[in-house]
Amino acid sequence: MKKLVDKFGRQITYLRLAITDRCNLRCQYCMPAHGIDIVDRKDLLSYKEMYRITRVLSELGVNKVRLTGGEPFVRKDFINFLESLSFNDHLDQINITTNGALISKHISKLEELGINAVNLSLDTLNADKFKQITRRDIFDETMQTLDQLLASELTLKLNVVILPGVNTNEIGDFIALTKNKNIAVRFIEEMPFNGVGLRKTDEVWNLNRIFKEAEKYFTNIIPLDDKKSSTSKNFKIKGYRGTFGIIPAFTRTICGDCNRIRITSTGMFKNCLFDDGVFNIRDFIRNGASDDDLKELFIKTVQQKPINGFVAEANRKNKKVSESMSTIGG
Ligand code: SF4
Repeated sequence: MKKLVDKFGRQITYLRLAITDRCNLRCQYCMPAHGIDIVDRKDLLSYKEMYRITRVLSELGVNKVRLTGGEPFVRKDFINFLESLSFNDHLDQINITTNGALISKHISKLEELGINAVNLSLDTLNADKFKQITRRDIFDETMQTLDQLLASELTLKLNVVILPGVNTNEIGDFIALTKNKNIAVRFIEEMPFNGVGLRKTDEVWNLNRIFKEAEKYFTNIIPLDDKKSSTSKNFKIKGYRGTFGIIPAFTRTICGDCNRIRITSTGMFKNCLFDDGVFNIRDFIRNGASDDDLKELFIKTVQQKPINGFVAEANRKNKKVSESMSTIGG
């Protein structure tokens, strides 16, 4: 089997595929209140195209797929697409990132399909703040979904974007969730992908600052051995069931063994979260590319993967990093 290896010897085994640019929430750190200019439906990859792209990449060694958005469950027939993906024997892991607003009625089906993990985006445990951050009033429903996911077979991770001055005082509360719950709480450094660009704030909450805050509440923090290509630095409070981690997404100290590529909902291939897209796969496919053409293209394009997110950012055509995360897929 040919593999996807970049010029730094990093093998690409993980695809983050965005199902749609649409979302039912309006999170402050992702998009403006009025939302984003969503693309025309015909410009979104079809499920057939997504399935083919994933199959071809899996024949080049990609064995893990994360489905993101926007919000993947807002797209009609998403469950059917998941079912088709579950028949791909090359895939060891199929994971989903969701805001949880629409997933609850599908949980048993996800278990049936063998979906491995669900990452639930939840940035506060306070109803008023939830409404402030997401501009939607569905805190109770989201907390019910959290309990349903905890009771399910699915591996559950909580994604908490750290927003200076908004939820930094809840870091202790989130870690406290791991006492009796088998959950992995991951704190994510805020990024500029919000439709506006880097927020002017005098408070920088990076990995070290977030960890220092955790130390204020917990003395017996045990560092865990991180798996190769892990996106987070992980820890456990002695005697607690769950774990917590910190994703240095903005300080980008995890690039050394990055094994990820991204494909946006409009088919843009990204070698790195911080680049502004390398190639549009959708158009290539719609112009009649064969599977071998696709494989050759993927192998060649991964060769251009930058050594880290800073180089990726420096090489952007559009220098301003501000596109909404809803157009990338996280
Ligand atoms: S910033 Fe880019 S290179 Fe670094 S870990 Fe993220 S995707 Fe990989």
